[in-house]
Amino acid sequence: MVTTETKSPPLRRRVRALLRRLEREYGKARRERTAPIDELILTILSQNTSDGNRDRAYDSLRARFSSWEALRLAPRSEVEDAIRPAGLWKQKARVLQDTLNALHDEHGRLDLSHLESLSDAEIIDYLTGHRGIGVKTAACVLCFSLGRPYMPVDTHVHRLARRLGLIPAEVNADRAHELLNSKPAVPPELRFSFHIQLIRHGRRVCRAARPACDSCILNDLCPKLDVD
Ligand code: SF4
Repeated sequence: MVTTETKSPPLRRRVRALLRRLEREYGKARRERTAPIDELILTILSQNTSDGNRDRAYDSLRARFSSWEALRLAPRSEVEDAIRPAGLWKQKARVLQDTLNALHDEHGRLDLSHLESLSDAEIIDYLTGHRGIGVKTAACVLCFSLGRPYMPVDTHVHRLARRLGLIPAEVNADRAHELLNSKPAVPPELRFSFHIQLIRHGRRVCRAARPACDSCILNDLCPKLDVD
């Protein structure tokens, strides 16, 4: 049952306690690095769909186009057709090709290796400067491609962080990125793992509709704030 009551022990201590419980339940998260452009394409495809549909669309792109350069130059209708499993194929095909065209115009080739020398804030500014690329996509590149201690906030992380009282209930996802990735919130070395574990818990237990609070392993640590 979700309530409006709050609890507020020190935030970092709470995060560590939550993560210990989640890791005991789901096991440690393992990091696999992806190339920045691959991650960019995966995250664009992932908007408003499941991981399974995203992966089907990504595999379809890989099978149909010999390179990301071939994808950039392909007729729009072929790209739309290839990514249908991910939904919103017209919008996503446009963002994919616009982004690849912009990267090509800027660097003369499809290459994001210059990101390695930029700060987290500079990378977010650079990537979100492209139409259709939001903070979550930039955060995924930071976390999964560049191995930076930066925590992406997807729909599950956003919902759980608010229900758990880690951030104010009214905070939007962009602001949640700033708050959760600040020093007083989630310690840098825990951000990747905390991101993965909150998603696992959000899918299985703390679902958007009817969270299973009675059987939740975080029950005694959670103020169960009403955020929906
Ligand atoms: S984390 Fe657990 S106790 Fe808290 S709202 Fe979600 S399901 Fe309920």
